[in-house]
Amino acid sequence: MSIGNIPKDIHSKPSQHAQMLMGYIPTTRLECITNKAGRHRALSNLFHTCMKKILSPLEAYGEIGIAMVTGDSIWYRCHPVLATFVGDYPEQLLVTSTLNGRCPKCTIPRDNLGSNEHFPLHNIQTAISIFSLSDAHPTTFHATCHEADFKPTYHPFWERLPFTDIFLSITPDILHQIHQGVARHLLRWLASLGAEEINARCSHLPLNHNARHFQKGIIGLSRLSGQEHKDISRIVLGVVVDLPLSGRQSSARLTCAVRALLDFMYLAQYSVQTTTTLNALKDALCRFHEEKDIFVELGVREHFNIPKFHSLAHYQRSITLFGSADNYNTEQSERLHIDLTKNAYRATNFKDEFKQMTTWLERQEAMHQHATLIELHEHGSARQLTRYPSLQMTLYPFVTTQPSEKGVTFESLVYRYGAVDFQDALADFIVSHNNPELSARVARRRADNTLILFQRVSVFHKIRFANHKDPSKQTIDAIHIRPEAHTRVGLGAVRPGRFDTGLVRNGSTICVAQIWVVFQLSKSTTSQVFLDSRPAPPTHLAYVEWFSQPSAPHPSHGLSQVSRRYHNRHWSASIVPLSNICWSVQLFPVFGPIAPREWQSTTVLEECSTFYINSFLDKHMYQNFM
Ligand SMILES: [Zn+2]
Repeated sequence: MSIGNIPKDIHSKPSQHAQMLMGYIPTTRLECITNKAGRHRALSNLFHTCMKKILSPLEAYGEIGIAMVTGDSIWYRCHPVLATFVGDYPEQLLVTSTLNGRCPKCTIPRDNLGSNEHFPLHNIQTAISIFSLSDAHPTTFHATCHEADFKPTYHPFWERLPFTDIFLSITPDILHQIHQGVARHLLRWLASLGAEEINARCSHLPLNHNARHFQKGIIGLSRLSGQEHKDISRIVLGVVVDLPLSGRQSSARLTCAVRALLDFMYLAQYSVQTTTTLNALKDALCRFHEEKDIFVELGVREHFNIPKFHSLAHYQRSITLFGSADNYNTEQSERLHIDLTKNAYRATNFKDEFKQMTTWLERQEAMHQHATLIELHEHGSARQLTRYPSLQMTLYPFVTTQPSEKGVTFESLVYRYGAVDFQDALADFIVSHNNPELSARVARRRADNTLILFQRVSVFHKIRFANHKDPSKQTIDAIHIRPEAHTRVGLGAVRPGRFDTGLVRNGSTICVAQIWVVFQLSKSTTSQVFLDSRPAPPTHLAYVEWFSQPSAPHPSHGLSQVSRRYHNRHWSASIVPLSNICWSVQLFPVFGPIAPREWQSTTVLEECSTFYINSFLDKHMYQNFM
C-alpha cells in the first residue's frame, strides 16, 4: 500500500520504500472443494475477507480522520481513503466482482468491447445495494448478481469504505494492457501479414544505442517480456511501411492503424500530461478505431472484442483523476513481490515460514529506517523533496579522458574511418573559427589556400550522453564511431565498423548527420593553428556528414524522410564541436516493397540513399518529433 501524495521519482523506485507491505493473502487453491464454480466463489470470498480485514481501519478513519505525523515532524489530521487499485486484469475482475471477458469499470456489453462507443461506469450505489443482499437467500442473491453481470461475492471489501468508488479506482496498467496487451496482439496480427519480409527488414536496421537489434527478426519469438515488447514497439513502424499485402493492397491504412496504436502507447506513458497530450491520446485512439477494419479486410482478425483494447478507452479519464500512468505501474508491484515475498521466503528455513518472513521484514524495515536516520544526521536533509518532472531533457556529450587511439594519420582517417574530406573540412573549420566575420564564399577560398602542417590526431570511439553536466551520471544515450577491427588476432574474426547517426546542431538548425570521427588536437597543434585573439577552440571535434532537412511527416505513417546531402558530388561534410552533437538517432531505410536481401545493418547507411527518422526510438525522440 502506498499514499498518493509522494513525489513520483520516490514513488517509482522500490528502493525508496514508498510502498509498505500490509499483509500476505493466502495463495491456496482450495482444491478440497471439488465443484469448480463453488471453488472460484470460495477463493473470491477468501480474498475479499482478507482485504476487508486489512482495510477495515479506513472505514472509520476515512470519515472522522486520524492524526498523522510527516517526516518533518508536523502533525496533520488525515482522512485515508482508498483511491486507486493497481493490478492486472484478473485482479481487477476479482476486486470488482466482474465476469471474465467484461470491462471491470463500465457497463459495455461483451460484444461491443471492440467499438469506440462509450458506456457509463458501473454505478457504485447500485453495486453496493446488490452486494448487500449477500445475507439474503442465496438463490435471490445469485439471481440478482447474475442479472447485473456481477459475480456473487459475499460482502466485497469495498462495500463500506467511505468515499470509495471501486469502479472508478481501477487504474490503467501500462505493463499488461500496453506492452503485454496491445503490443503483443499487434505483433501477432503482423505475423500473418508477412513474417519473412518483416524479419528481414528487422535484421537490416542500422544499430543504435537505444534500439535492440533483432538479428533474426521480431516474428516467431516466444515468451516475450514487457521489456522486449517495448523494444519491438520502437522499430515496428519502420518495418511495416510499404509492406507488400495480399491482393496488392496499399499498406497506407495498415501503417495508419499501427501508427495510431503506437501514438497511443507512447502518449499514455508520458510522465507529465496536459490537456494537449490527453487530447492527442484521445485522437490516437479514434484514429485506430477508424482504421482498424484493415485487419479484418486482410483476414487477420474477425473482431476486436478484447478487454485489453477496450481498457484504452478509460485512460484519459483515469489520468485526469489520478495523474500520469507511471503513478500506478504494475511493474513496481511485481518488483515488490520479489523484495517482500520471494526474498523474505528465501531468508527462512522453509518451515513455519510465515512468522519468520514477517520478523525478517520487520527487521529489514527497522534497518532501513535506522540507515535513513543516520543519513539525516550526517548530511542534514536526507533528500530534496520538491522535484518536478519535465518533458524537456538536455543531454551532455562526454568522451573518455584517454583517446581510444592516439596519433591516427589523416590517411588512416580516410581509409579506416571513411572521413574522405577530412582535411578540407578541417581547413574550413580553422578558417571560420579564426575569421568568423568572413562570408562563406571568402572563407571557402581562404580554406583552399590553408596549409595544415600536422598529420595526426587522437580519436575517440564512443560518445556517451548524460542528462547532467557531471560525467559520472547515468548514461542515457551513446553514439559509436569505430572502424572495422580484428577481434581475435590470428583467427581472422572481424568486428565490422560502426558509425552511428545523430542529431547535430548546424548553425540555428538541428540536422541528422552520420558521425565518422571524434577527435582531439594536441595542445601544440591547437596553439599553432588557432589565433590567440579568438576564443579558445573546442577541445573535442567531430567530422560529420550531413543529411537533408527532414521532410514534412508522411500523411499515413507520419515519419519524416531524409536523404544524403551532396556537395561537389561528395556527401556534404563538416567539422563541428563535439558539444553540437545532441542525441543519437536511428534511421529506417526506405525499403520499398521488398527489402534487398544483400543489405546488412552495418552497411545499410551507405547502401540505401533515403531514410525515415525513427521518432519512436525513445520517449524524448517521440516528444520532439511527434
Ligand atoms: Zn470499460
